[in-house]
Amino acid sequence: MTVGVLGAGQLGRMLALAGYPLGLDFLFLDREPATPAHQVAPSLFGSFTDPALLDELAARCEVITFDWENVPAEALQRLASRTRIAPPQLALATAQDRLLEKQLFARLRVPTNRNCAVDSLADLTSAAAQIGLPGVLKTRRLGYDGKGQQVIRRTADIQSAWQSLGSAPLLYEAMVPFDYEISAIGVRGLQGEFAMYPLNRNLHRDGILRLTRAPWKAGALELSARRILKKVMEHFEYVGVLAIEFFVQRGQLLANEMAPRVHNSGHWTIEGAHTSQFENHLRAICGLPLGDTRARGHSAMLNLIGEMPDRRLLLKEPGLHLHDYGKSPRPGRKLGHLTFVESTARAADLRARRLLRRIDSRKM
Ligand code: AMP
Repeated sequence: MTVGVLGAGQLGRMLALAGYPLGLDFLFLDREPATPAHQVAPSLFGSFTDPALLDELAARCEVITFDWENVPAEALQRLASRTRIAPPQLALATAQDRLLEKQLFARLRVPTNRNCAVDSLADLTSAAAQIGLPGVLKTRRLGYDGKGQQVIRRTADIQSAWQSLGSAPLLYEAMVPFDYEISAIGVRGLQGEFAMYPLNRNLHRDGILRLTRAPWKAGALELSARRILKKVMEHFEYVGVLAIEFFVQRGQLLANEMAPRVHNSGHWTIEGAHTSQFENHLRAICGLPLGDTRARGHSAMLNLIGEMPDRRLLLKEPGLHLHDYGKSPRPGRKLGHLTFVESTARAADLRARRLLRRIDSRKM
């Protein structure tokens, strides 16, 4: 069976690496050859909207999925008329637009922070007055890793935030003084079967995920996250892996955003769970039985951002798993990640902090 993947980044690469032991083949489509997935799987190159390329992908693949959520809707429509797509197009279209995502949360009664669409400076001024300051102004589309966002702390910031982002449709939302952030990752199969991984606790820096620890024991919050994940998946008749990121504030969950795909905060599952999120995504979209989502121990995953630490020093660390995505260094770019699994949460936590300090101070 051949799985077609739109976008050939590191998520696609890890999908392919998880799929080969299952006997799956892959064909990627991306704009240019210098991609992490093309190093491990055949690819087609060109525009995501090129009808000939899309038709070739559809003809050669039994199912199409994506590693990039900003795939143009027209590409999906063309593919959907020729082959099967999973996760569903509607989930992707919703996740592509922060306003649609917030509207979905409201419709499904998933708690989220107050927010409002902004299409003019007057809208922004009134949104800031209604919702209050501080707040965050975000582009509705194409934002990721903190890009396309401006924090507005004082009335005097409104004008400059509008000037820097105002050329695109926007969303203003309340800044959440959260206690911490978590994400919930679940998988739903073709027959509606559902499984969730243990929760992840996430630390972001400059809007980019830096560290994930799992399992994060959050008591009643785990049940609430499970209920929300299931509800959102059932709403879309979802097939594949879905992640929802939450703020935790005074013991309550507030949904921040969802990702209709495998997620960076789930990379620990490669070594730290019985079945990785990548394998489970493939099992789901190929109609295979879902794998065991239980953790094998206490994992920590650190993103390697901007420049790669010294590989020799990293590999001297016992039990450390290095994932190098084969990308060229650039400030703010995710180049790889590290995972290790310990027998207690405390040991994983202490080791993660020690490694982060060494990487940050360039001692690695
Ligand atoms: P996002 O792209 O919306 O996931 O934002 C990236 C990160 O920025 C989040 O994980 C938070 O750490 C931070 N952030 C985004 N929106 C807010 C908000 N409304 N309140 C507080 N922090 C936020």
